[in-house]
Amino acid sequence: MSHDVIVIGAGAVGLATALQIQEKNRQLKVLVLDKEANVAHHQTGNNSNVIHSGIYYKPGSLKATNCIRGYTMLIDFCRKYNVPFDLCGKVIVATSEPEIPLLKNIYDRGIQNGLQNLKMLTLDELKGYEPHVAGIAGIHVPQTGIVDYRVVAEKYAEVIRNQGGEIRLNEKVEDIRMTDSDVTVITGKGSYTAKLVVNCAGLYSDKIARLTSSSVNVKIVPFRGEYYKLKKEKEHLVKTLIYPVPDPNFPFLGVHFTTMPGGGVECGPNAVLAFKREGYKKSDINLSELGETLAWPGFQKVAAKYWRTGMGEMYRSYSKAAFTKALQKLIPEIQENDLVPGGAGVRAQACDKTGGLLDDFMILEGKRAINVCNAPSPAATSSLSIGETIAERSLKHF
Ligand SMILES: Cc1cc2nc3c(=O)[nH]c(=O)nc-3n(C[C@H](O)[C@H](O)[C@H](O)COP(=O)(O)OP(=O)(O)OC[C@H]3O[C@@H](n4cnc5c(N)ncnc54)[C@H](O)[C@@H]3O)c2cc1C
Repeated sequence: MSHDVIVIGAGAVGLATALQIQEKNRQLKVLVLDKEANVAHHQTGNNSNVIHSGIYYKPGSLKATNCIRGYTMLIDFCRKYNVPFDLCGKVIVATSEPEIPLLKNIYDRGIQNGLQNLKMLTLDELKGYEPHVAGIAGIHVPQTGIVDYRVVAEKYAEVIRNQGGEIRLNEKVEDIRMTDSDVTVITGKGSYTAKLVVNCAGLYSDKIARLTSSSVNVKIVPFRGEYYKLKKEKEHLVKTLIYPVPDPNFPFLGVHFTTMPGGGVECGPNAVLAFKREGYKKSDINLSELGETLAWPGFQKVAAKYWRTGMGEMYRSYSKAAFTKALQKLIPEIQENDLVPGGAGVRAQACDKTGGLLDDFMILEGKRAINVCNAPSPAATSSLSIGETIAERSLKHF
């Protein structure tokens, strides 16, 4: 047996899991494998860098409990290891009358989730926080912050290595074989045996999960989130973070303004179906992956239900004018030529067979495998808490 636990995926969730397993038992030999040459190469390194407060999530859900616990754990970690962060706060803005009850629901959820000092705002009060914002009411969320998750993940990796853990990069997992007593993970370079495997493979987590179990009933559907950046001379229009009221039927928050940890303001992300799991560009297509998505019965139901929203997102992806229009709801002064192209990230969103885009985190446990099958936003914020949950479950195997 080369190791005790093998973690697949060196994103925030995989690395936090390895770290928390070490925290609980320093004797265990932990190995993290990732197919890329660096950690945080996918979702973790291409996200909005927001430390979410937990205001949106259904009380008692895994998202709510892990986000709130993970928030504190992340901030403690950043303080301990000198990772810069800024608890700058954010506003959520209602721009039409029908959004007012939705805004009130978000406020109530925040209270139920234990958030302190939330404030419902009139337009005048909103303008006190964000002078250029338009809207009719809002919420101020003082807890929200920003941090560079790539830096966080690199620090997780450094601590894991310093504590004797191993991280092997450029190791693509191709197969997993299980016996009653152990599990062997086969990569393009070799094979590693352990008592337990933990799958935190993000955009490929369903495929890895299927190597460990025949009863995995979800498919990862990749949704690309594209960003613009505000031109330097327009950055003064945004003080902190400005979010719209999200569509309650859709698991994404809507295009918003985010000040960045290194300076600058990002606008986005939208949410368009990616034609390739790691499809960061519009032109990226993988016919086999796209075919799998389209053939998944659950996706066909999602497409039938949300085609109008989906087409709107697609249109906004190709039309800068439409993207600008969505942003103008929050800041009317923004003009198309104030925006320059930014980066993109791809979300791993699990979809079940019956057409549900899974709202909550999902962790499936088998005899020698723990599979994280749905860890979308706010999983970066929640990573240390999700990691601790998995570590507790892992220890039962020893
Ligand atoms: C556009 C966007 C904006 C977001 N904004 C936020 C935010 O502001 N705040 C927040 O908390 N969350 C946000 N999220 C969500 C957050 O980024 C993710 O939930 C989190 O990063 C998931 O971490 P992970 O480790 O599960 O996945 P990943 O970071 O994707 O890591 C998975 C790893 O598995 C590896 N892998 C895959 N297949 C294999 C294989 N076969 N062999 C070996 N390795 C493999 C990959 O290379 C990758 O490194 C956002 C996500 C996106 C895409």
